[in-house]
Amino acid sequence: IIIIIIIIFFIIIFKIIIIIFIFIYFLNSISSPQHGIVLDAGSSRTTVYVYEWPAEKENNTGVVSQTYKCNVKGPGISSYGSNPQEIAKPIDDCIHKVKEKIPSHLHKSTPVYLGATAGMRLLRLQNETTANEVLESVHNYFTSQPFEFRGAQIITGQEEGVYGWITANYLMGNFLEKNIWRTWVHPRGAETTGELDLGGASTQISFIPEESMQSSNSTLQVQLYGYEYSVYTHSFQCYGRDEAEKRLLASLMQQPGLNKSTIDNPCYPQSYKTALTMKHLHGSLCTESLKPADYKPVQLVNVRGTGDPALCQEKVSLLFNFTACNGREDCSFNGVHQPKLKGKFVAFSGFYYTANALNLTGRFSLADFNSSMWSFCSQNWNQLPFMLPKFDEVYARSYCFSANYIYYLLVHGYKFNTETWPQIHFQKEVGNSSIAWSLGYMLSLTNMIPAESTLIWLPVHP
Ligand code: AMP
Repeated sequence: IIIIIIIIFFIIIFKIIIIIFIFIYFLNSISSPQHGIVLDAGSSRTTVYVYEWPAEKENNTGVVSQTYKCNVKGPGISSYGSNPQEIAKPIDDCIHKVKEKIPSHLHKSTPVYLGATAGMRLLRLQNETTANEVLESVHNYFTSQPFEFRGAQIITGQEEGVYGWITANYLMGNFLEKNIWRTWVHPRGAETTGELDLGGASTQISFIPEESMQSSNSTLQVQLYGYEYSVYTHSFQCYGRDEAEKRLLASLMQQPGLNKSTIDNPCYPQSYKTALTMKHLHGSLCTESLKPADYKPVQLVNVRGTGDPALCQEKVSLLFNFTACNGREDCSFNGVHQPKLKGKFVAFSGFYYTANALNLTGRFSLADFNSSMWSFCSQNWNQLPFMLPKFDEVYARSYCFSANYIYYLLVHGYKFNTETWPQIHFQKEVGNSSIAWSLGYMLSLTNMIPAESTLIWLPVHP
């Protein structure tokens, strides 16, 4: 009997130990953080973001953060139209590093999304077959990878704007915050922040206006965490930084009596010289109407900087059609409806890079922006390496243009003035997470915004 009792005792102990092991394993598996990967396939480059959130379902309450970011070498995916099979290599260099950041047993359950923006929207308009071949090449690459590939999509300008708005407000804690009882609540009297995004091929503005214009299809009803937001959003195609600069150069080439093999650019610094191919200037849909009759893609055009801030301003102003608004207050430019600005704004991407080059970040006055711009635009090219924290020829030559462009877009376009300009915060990240549409995109596609309050897309039509 004693032996039987001892055996039963050991069996029970053995079972308890097994149960404890299973429990510990279960706890471990549910508490190891989950990951998501988003490729932001912009017009000028692709950026890979890795996000992380705890598995124990606080994931719907504002705890997703960015743990890794990798800039893919080379141009954006829309530049691979003639050689789509070459997309894989530079992306793979980043994905290789991503694999080291995420524990291998989680690779299979980690979703990967690729969202392409205005570069691909333009390519699709130019040649749909080529755009599809590019996306297919991305798809083929990811099918050979261990992650759970959830597709490569071209997103619309409105989606880009609203996902950027969601990211900014999510990271700033404007949707949810922890109260003193450590539960998540909707912040009292919480104001949201508007977003201003300057990409390479398009630019977006999104904010909640004073009164939602029920008659406008530029207002989207977004429901998040049980609250409904009417977000005005507009994306201007061909008004991204790079495409706008091409439009300027192409228009300078059109001047009557000009020797077309050399153009003087008042927005490039004095004594700067370069040669650009005609394809660079006229290969895009945004400059197609300015294409000369004798267009030869490989022919070089010499460009000479004259560093003339006043003339640069004048030329930049011509990139916008302000008269199309007929002096209407509810109109930005090109006849586009825009309600009156309201509240704070965050300006990121190209807005941030340019302000940073002028030694301005965070909040500052319009007068400070103007005087920094004027002094930057008056510098000789030889001075720039001493003025910029990181010197890159292609970015450095264009900061004067970008600053003038931002001035016209924000002041004459969106109608920021001396009083409202300081409401704009020029910022690229919150904590260590970049402000970019990619996080909002992932939160929405993974349903990380709670089921009882899913994001609903309801464009309000007249
Ligand atoms: P992205 O944020 O990659 O979509 O870039 C937006 C715009 O900023 C594009 O016109 C890029 O050419 C430009 N850009 C990207 N990185 C920099 C940088 N470090 N300095 C200046 N401009 C940049």
